[in-house]
This record gives sequence, structure tokens and C-alpha cells, in this order.
Amino acid sequence: MHPGVYIYFNMFPPPSAIKAAENLGFPYIQDVNSSDTHVLGMANMSYTMDERGYRNDTASAFLPPSLVKTRKNNLNISTGALVTKILFSSDNLSSRPRAVGVQVESADGPSNKREIMVNKEIILCAGAIGSPQLLLLSFSHKAKENGSSSGIGPKDHLSKMNIKVVKDLPGVGNHMQDHFGIPVIFEIPLNDSIIVLQKRPLTAIKEIFKFLISGQGLLTSPIHELSIFAQSHSLTADFANAKSGDKLDWTDSSNIPDLEIMTIAVGETDLSKMNKDTGDGGFGLWTGVVQPFSRGYVRLKSIDPRIAPSCDLNFLGDSRDREAAYAGISLSMRLKEEIAKLGYPITDVAVPKSLDPADLDAHITAQGLTLYHYSSSCRMAPEDDPLPGVVDDELKVHGIDGLRIADASIFPNVLATHLQAAVVAVAEKCADMVLNEASS
Ligand SMILES: Cc1cc2nc3c(=O)[nH]c(=O)nc-3n(C[C@H](O)[C@H](O)[C@H](O)COP(=O)(O)OP(=O)(O)OC[C@H]3O[C@@H](n4cnc5c(N)ncnc54)[C@H](O)[C@@H]3O)c2cc1C
Repeated sequence: MHPGVYIYFNMFPPPSAIKAAENLGFPYIQDVNSSDTHVLGMANMSYTMDERGYRNDTASAFLPPSLVKTRKNNLNISTGALVTKILFSSDNLSSRPRAVGVQVESADGPSNKREIMVNKEIILCAGAIGSPQLLLLSFSHKAKENGSSSGIGPKDHLSKMNIKVVKDLPGVGNHMQDHFGIPVIFEIPLNDSIIVLQKRPLTAIKEIFKFLISGQGLLTSPIHELSIFAQSHSLTADFANAKSGDKLDWTDSSNIPDLEIMTIAVGETDLSKMNKDTGDGGFGLWTGVVQPFSRGYVRLKSIDPRIAPSCDLNFLGDSRDREAAYAGISLSMRLKEEIAKLGYPITDVAVPKSLDPADLDAHITAQGLTLYHYSSSCRMAPEDDPLPGVVDDELKVHGIDGLRIADASIFPNVLATHLQAAVVAVAEKCADMVLNEASS
């Protein structure tokens, strides 16, 4: 296995931003994954890269062509294919259903369809939107003959869609979570922003050569290098870190931050507008509400698997999340004030008119966006949990044999971090469990 190298960058944001965060009581954390460090502070983010300086994706890291070659007799990869159904042995509610195969459409479209049957089990990893959609659309052999559909999920929703219930599992598609992001945007000197690559062609050419020769330079920048982790309830009246200096126990869940302020080396949230010549470089402080209480859902729009389901992420639906968002935006504005106090040239581009709730709400409506951390729509929890679960602690779907889920949909709640590494950990744990079961 070659998962790549974790790299820390040191290009953005400007040093004044780091100094300003320290002045507000957020210590600088070099290695956020260390167990011997501050829980609340300004942390260096890490990125998986390969030796050439390219970001490493999981396919290249875990299934490089060299490995694929050695497994050509027992590994079949179908790129661009769409799984349209999970097939079950029976839709008879009196016997426990077993997943026995999948129906797949090739990239050519519906005319090229086939069924792939399994010997042991299916591991569903279609993500927090695709996995619940496929469970809702599952299909039994018997039903196939008369053309009707059957599915696993909330009985009411399945009945409304005229889908026969293979298993009433209320958790499917419910409890969908994400991190909501709210940027405040500033102008800063061009050289301190990655927009310099767009506005100074000579710099861009120099950086292209640097990247080609050494795999280093601005072109490797992930744009987001540092984040401030804070707890909204422990901010002082002046939006400083009240627990400054405390090395909190990171294994105690009550110490987990509920706010992440991301420092972003561009201004515009809509990257297509980046050409707009507003003069200087851009800089954003993006509040992420990372321990949301709000829960949304995924529901079928159609029984056609090619039609995306509808998702309601219910951002800030719970008033506690709105309070956290207010605190995050206020902390961002306080940081900007501190950066300016240090003499660094920074001016407002898209900020709330004031910190009054009405102005904060207007800013949230204008600027709020998803941080693409969809999660928890097939959560790991008991079936009869007050927030019903879909999988058990071995990732097996409740009440169904031969079916596990291994993706971001299984997190009991969205994690207070970016999800990619955690999803890989779920996949590795799943592989261990499958191997252990096979060997016993
Ligand atoms: C733009 C963007 C940037 C991100 N940046 C970061 C980052 O910097 N760091 C970080 O930690 N996280 C990041 N994330 C989040 C991270 O990528 C996700 O949390 C993670 O990929 C989720 O993994 P998953 O396996 O659950 O789903 P996915 O990675 O979405 O995998 C699911 C796959 O299943 C496929 N699929 C779905 N339905 C079907 C079907 N019916 N048939 C066949 N295939 C199907 C999908 O096409 C997809 O390829 C980012 C996400 C986005 C969108």
C-alpha cells in the first residue's frame, strides 16, 4: 500500500494572520494529529500528496496499476458504470432477505445492462447520497418478474413511491449531515494570495517551471493551509479563546471544537469570477460549523436510478447551529481587526454590515455554502435508536444478510473534521473485518 506522503505547506496565509490568531489566544499547532498538542488553536492542515507534488487520490494510492495487474484474475474494475439495483434473494417479509448481486449499467447507457452475482457479500460505498438511494431502490428477484420495485428504508417514503418494502428501516436517508460554511472575504496584497498566478503571467510561468522541475511552489498549494479550531461557547466577549494555553484532553468529546475558521488564499467564493479585476489579492476566513445539530435527509425523486435523489441538508435548521455560525463570523471579523492592528493592509470585500443578528443572517443567506462533507445518512447505531441506525458496528445493514456499507454515510454524526482520511479509515477497518470473518 502506498497512501502517499502527508505534507504541510508554508505559503499562505500571511504571517500577520498567524500572529493575529496567537494574539487572540489561539496557539500555533504544527502537527494537528499529534496527541501532545492543543485542541483549540491555529493548526496546520495536512494533505496527501505523491512524490511528484500531485494530490494523491485513493484510487491511485490503494489501487495503483502495478497492483491491479497482479490481481487481474480476481479484480474487475468497471469505470463509469452505474449500479442501478441491489438484488435480493427474496422480498418475502417473513424470511430474512440476503443481498445476492447488483444490476449494473455500463457507461454506454441502459442498453448495456447486466447482473453481477456475489459469492459472499456486497460492500456498498456509493457515498452519503448514493448509498441511501441504492438501498431505497433495491430490488428482489421475484418482484423483477412483475416489474415492480422493492426497497429498504422508511416505510412511509417507500409506500409513497409505490415501492414494496423489503425491510422497514427508518434510518435510511435520514440524519443527513454536512458542514455549513460562511466566508468573510477581504482584499490583501496580491503577492500574499494565489490570485497572483492569474494576474501576473510572468509569476505564473516561473511557478509552472518550478513545479515541473522540482514538484514545488505555488502550484502545489491546496489554497487552504491553516485552520483555527475554536469552541463557540468558550469564546470571550471579545471573541478570544478563553481556554488559551490549556492543553485540553483531546479524548474527551466535550473538548472537541464546534467551529473551524479556514484561512483561504483566494477571495471569491465563486471561482469563475476570479478574473474580475478588483485590484489586489483575495483572502477569505471561512467559518465551518463542524458539530452541527441540524439534520437533513435524502429522498427519492424517482424510481429511476439515473435521477439524482433530492437532498435537504437543513443547514442551520437547529438554532444552536445558527448561534455557532454567528460566533464564527464574529471571530473572523475580530481576527481581521487584529490583522489590521498589526499594520497589515487588509480591506473588506464581503462582510456582514454589523454583528447584529439581522445583518449576520443577511450575510449568511448571501454567502453560505456547503463544505461538501455529506455524512451520516446510513448511520451506525441500533435500529431502534432514538435516531435510528442503518448499520451495526460491523457495518452490516440491520436485518439484511450479505450487505455492508463502507463510506461517509455510516458516521453516527458528521465528524468535526474533513472526512476523506476518516472514510479511508472506515474502508481499512471494513477490509480487516471481511478478512477476519473469512479466516474464521
Ligand atoms: C470538491 C470537494 C473537495 C473536497 N476536499 C476535501 C479535502 O480537502 N479533504 C477532505 O478530507 N475531504 C474533502 N472532501 C470530502 C471528501 O472527498 C468526502 O468526504 C469523501 O470523498 C467521501 O467519501 P465516500 O466514499 O463516502 O464518497 P465518494 O468519495 O463520493 O464516493 C462515492 C462514489 O460512488 C459513486 N456512486 C454513487 N452512486 C453510484 C451508483 N449508483 N453506481 C456507481 N457508482 C456510484 C460516486 O460517483 C462516487 O465516485 C471534498 C469533497 C469535495 C466534493
